[in-house]
Amino acid sequence: MQRHLRRPLTLELRLPQPRLLVVDDDPSVRSVVRTAMIVEGYAVEEADDGLDAIAALSCAQFDIVILDLGLPRAGGEQVLATVRALPGHDTTQVLLLTGDHDARRLRTCLEAGAQDYLRKPFEHDELVGRVAACQRTKDKLDALRKSSLHDSLTGLLNRRGGEHELRRWGAHSLRHQEPLSVMMIDIDFFKKVNDEHGHPTGDEVLTEVGRRLKSCVRASDVVVRWGGEEFLLVLPNTSAARACELADRVRHAVSGAAIDVHRQRLDVTVSVGIACATGGVGDPEKHTDALVAQADADLYASRQLLRASEPVTPVDRSRSG
Ligand SMILES: [Mg+2]
Repeated sequence: MQRHLRRPLTLELRLPQPRLLVVDDDPSVRSVVRTAMIVEGYAVEEADDGLDAIAALSCAQFDIVILDLGLPRAGGEQVLATVRALPGHDTTQVLLLTGDHDARRLRTCLEAGAQDYLRKPFEHDELVGRVAACQRTKDKLDALRKSSLHDSLTGLLNRRGGEHELRRWGAHSLRHQEPLSVMMIDIDFFKKVNDEHGHPTGDEVLTEVGRRLKSCVRASDVVVRWGGEEFLLVLPNTSAARACELADRVRHAVSGAAIDVHRQRLDVTVSVGIACATGGVGDPEKHTDALVAQADADLYASRQLLRASEPVTPVDRSRSG
């Protein structure tokens, strides 16, 4: 069957398979859509009434929902409202199926966030064409969303993306009464790197520090370029003691080996501030804002200590050797 897939196999291997939910109480319509969309490379799930559709949407994300308006148990409008309200579905495309010619109902649904519609009975080519158009829109929206949440230099989450993850893990920590730690990390004397070696070298140092931070955290931890030479780690289910151990690993990962940039070897160190909270009640945003402020204050104290001691400036070892 695979030779009939329209998406090239190499693409299938590299990209996750797009997911489509078809919601219709008529099994023959679901069967036609499923057959056509499997050939187009989709993983297809089906629901035969509104409540089943809402249940499916609550446990999985879909690229496209093909949604009949006339459904038992919960109408198409209710399913559409669920798609638009659920987190993780902001770019999900909804293609309506309608058997009636109620233009006002269609208009209401399009205004409520559906992208397009097909009237039954529909032609195979029209179904495939409209789904392809919906998928193009979704891919563009996803790419825009990704670039708006990531730092183009290091590839890490940017501050906006980091704030999004902070809120998510803050809410999780309150809901499950789990500890949440955050770590603020600042490259020491970074201005000197830019002043003495130039901004391209500074950029390489930032990228390498980002890479080293990534290498010493768990897959579930979040690494953010918070701004300038500051990075933030969001550490779900991490106690203060474990965060302190990780801080040692972070310092060692950055300073343990010189950073090679443009035939120069730079010794770079970082200062670290930590904050941890276990559970509690209240607003996730206030909860995480307080944690970040605490980590910032802890970092400030570390920096004061560093400045009071012998200054450690990034050294170009290539010139001495
Ligand atoms: Mg129906």
